[in-house]
Amino acid sequence: MNEVILKIQNLSHSYDDNRLSLKKINLLVDKGERLSIQGPSGCGKSTLLRLIAGLEEPHEGQIFINEEEVSSPGFSVPPEKRQIGMVVQDKALFPHLSIYENICFGIKKSTDKEQIALDLLNLFKIEELKNKFPHQISGGEKQRVALARSMAPNPNFIMLDEAFSALDSDLKVSIYDEVLEIFQGKNITVILVTHDTEEAKILSTRQLNMDNGELL
Ligand code: ADP
Ligand code: MG
Repeated sequence: MNEVILKIQNLSHSYDDNRLSLKKINLLVDKGERLSIQGPSGCGKSTLLRLIAGLEEPHEGQIFINEEEVSSPGFSVPPEKRQIGMVVQDKALFPHLSIYENICFGIKKSTDKEQIALDLLNLFKIEELKNKFPHQISGGEKQRVALARSMAPNPNFIMLDEAFSALDSDLKVSIYDEVLEIFQGKNITVILVTHDTEEAKILSTRQLNMDNGELL
């Protein structure tokens, strides 16, 4: 039987009083699934991810992670307690921390912290970047580091918000292959927001469209 990792019921959100940026969203995501959400700019994709992450509170509806309620009007489990990894297009890395320290950042104090970070550096083939700083590495390398960092605390799932949009198209294709292998190999649950149809096709197991605040 499939294990539901994320359940969204009747979720609506408005940034101001007279316009809904999300309209009665219902969604189930199973463990190990890679869901992509595509739609035009301004349709509410980032808003949905922000609500799931706990960065916004819903106007109506509920969100459950592993069957535990995390959001409803007037109630919100803080982002750091939701155990979700998130990668966005920009402002991905801490500029004052080395690549190694960036990856370690979200790992709770534990004896195998170093091993977790080394395994991720190895998995993403970025061992040699360990002691560099974000301004010393390329865009593609930054996205690998950001992905490694999002996976470091062993999150319930990871969310990618246009994470690859800034990369040029040759680079994208090779990154997709590598990332897909990692997602499949580790059975990572992924929610991917993109306006790139090719990216959605390659990386996801289920594709949904969004328009004007509604999931279609
Ligand atoms: P997408 O990620 O699909 O481009 P967003 O979720 O960012 O769309 O935006 C959905 C709608 O909410 C848009 O109309 C946008 O202008 C509005 N919006 C987004 N963020 C804010 C905010 N912080 N304050 C007010 N309105 C916002
Ligand atoms: Mg967006």
